[in-house]
Amino acid sequence: MTISESDDRLAWQQEQLHYNTFGASLRRRFGGRVQRVSIDAGFTCPNVDGAVARGGCNFCDNQSFSPSRRVRLKRVGQQLQDGIESVRRRYGNVHGFLAYFQPATNTYAPVEQLQEIFRLALDWDSDILGLAIGTRPDCVPESVLQLAESLAVEHYVSLEYGMQTMHQPGLDWMNRAHTHDHLVNAIDRSRGRGFECCVHIILGIPGETHDMMMQTADEVARLGFDAIKLHNLYAVQGTPLGEEVLTGKIRMMQQDTYVNTVVDFLQRIPPTTIVERISGDAPPSYLIEPKWCLEKSKLKLQIEAEFERRGTRQGSDYQPPTPAADQRPRPADNTPESIRSQIDVRGRLPVLKIEGQAI
Ligand code: SF4
Repeated sequence: MTISESDDRLAWQQEQLHYNTFGASLRRRFGGRVQRVSIDAGFTCPNVDGAVARGGCNFCDNQSFSPSRRVRLKRVGQQLQDGIESVRRRYGNVHGFLAYFQPATNTYAPVEQLQEIFRLALDWDSDILGLAIGTRPDCVPESVLQLAESLAVEHYVSLEYGMQTMHQPGLDWMNRAHTHDHLVNAIDRSRGRGFECCVHIILGIPGETHDMMMQTADEVARLGFDAIKLHNLYAVQGTPLGEEVLTGKIRMMQQDTYVNTVVDFLQRIPPTTIVERISGDAPPSYLIEPKWCLEKSKLKLQIEAEFERRGTRQGSDYQPPTPAADQRPRPADNTPESIRSQIDVRGRLPVLKIEGQAI
């Protein structure tokens, strides 16, 4: 990040904001309102198709990820067209759009195919200003990072990494089928290449204490992400997590606890980090629990009120990491194949092995 970019990322502090909101940062960057248009390009996921494991994350409705959905270029264009028209109908004057490759793992394909799809999206409409690409840490080989780097020369490009938590028990609980060190490896290879690195975090994972979530906040700060999406754990129909919630095995975080945890979390991350989301939800007919996340505006107001009550803002408790804290062991290889060799399967669940022992 250059000094002027860093200054720009602190501009929110002059705007009576409590944290560095995505909408305001896009307005500053592009000079007007920018909206995401969600695209399903038909990818699958190595945590679903067996390349790493089967079953996928317990919260992810991945039953529709199949090879038959794979890459249908015409449909990508049509989705963009429909999405842009729908956003224009809703918001009227929109300055530009980001094509958001959202479901599944959107870098899990040969790089030539990725290039074709991403270029198609960027060239589809002159108002498309860039790409947001959701992925896993084991699906960013050097060729993919080079592609993102080359596209970022002329466009906004953000790679969105699912980290969720830094704690292995939580990663195992949700069947992520990768370790935190795989994520560290991916970020170390991604930083400083011209595209943004965004991290997805889930708060309220069963078994995680407040201290553990704050450790994840400090790790997000240490890893130097450009942006963050915070999600409350939520359960939707047709997922293993949904089953457990319906049978009463899992209980979701209460709203007040979530508000306090978000504020504590944001206080610990750098003021330069862009906050793209502060909660997660799903369509009402599809969402099982918690229902409070459907009232996004109310939740946002509660989070702002808590900052106000405390007299704090994003970064108030941020401690720049010491160089010594950066010395973590990293896996030498970070591909689905290498992770697969570290996995046992018990029933339908992948179980990561550490030093040859299943955990
Ligand atoms: S890694 Fe992502 S796409 Fe794959 S199963 Fe998990 S949440 Fe779904």
